Amino acid sequence: MSNPKPMPPKAEVQLDLNEADTITCQECGNASFIQSFFLKKISALMSPTGKEAIVPVQVFSCGNCGTVPSKMLEGTGLGQES
Ligand SMILES: [Zn+2]
Repeated sequence: MSNPKPMPPKAEVQLDLNEADTITCQECGNASFIQSFFLKKISALMSPTGKEAIVPVQVFSCGNCGTVPSKMLEGTGLGQES
């Protein structure tokens, strides 16, 4: 019992979630989010196929109040309005 095996070095970097920031809702402070989609309508002029298309943009919305974190609105064309 006096010969403990050395721990093998781990090849993968362990994620320490205690050190990671938790994103919380900017409106109500809730920390759980649900998957949600914005649907962007691409006009026939903009579409590579020349036809009108619907493009889903995945975001997460607050499971409590439904607010989408403003950071996730960047690049969707939905975050500039104020
Ligand atoms: Zn919320």
